[in-house]
Amino acid sequence: MSSEVATGGCLCGDVRLEINGPLTDAHWCACRRCRQWAGSPVVAWVDVRTSDLRFAAGEPTWFEPAPGQRRGHCARCGSALCVFDEGSDIASVVLACLDDLDAHQPEGVSFPESLPRWLPAAGFTDP
Ligand SMILES: [Zn+2]
Ligand SMILES: [Zn+2]
Repeated sequence: MSSEVATGGCLCGDVRLEINGPLTDAHWCACRRCRQWAGSPVVAWVDVRTSDLRFAAGEPTWFEPAPGQRRGHCARCGSALCVFDEGSDIASVVLACLDDLDAHQPEGVSFPESLPRWLPAAGFTDP
């Protein structure tokens, strides 16, 4: 947890985000929705308060994979950035879009049953 200002953004730089508050519960998710949305077999996330997250440049393009959930990505470069659930004051930010990738270590995997069988063989194990 950190109360520093965390910054991040997409690959092309059109969308920049800024988090003015604690980043908590860094974790992996292996669910199909995360996987296909981000184009990665597992996605590392970190949680923030919605009121602490602002877009310092640009704004994500929103995709709704299910009613009440909005996933934001950059319309130009495609980077996966964040997800908001309707009615929740917690949003999740894709850990890999943060400028300081080392500040938060993911612990635990959501939907571990969805991890591809070859990941442990690649040296990637469920902590
Ligand atoms: Zn971009
Ligand atoms: Zn997921």
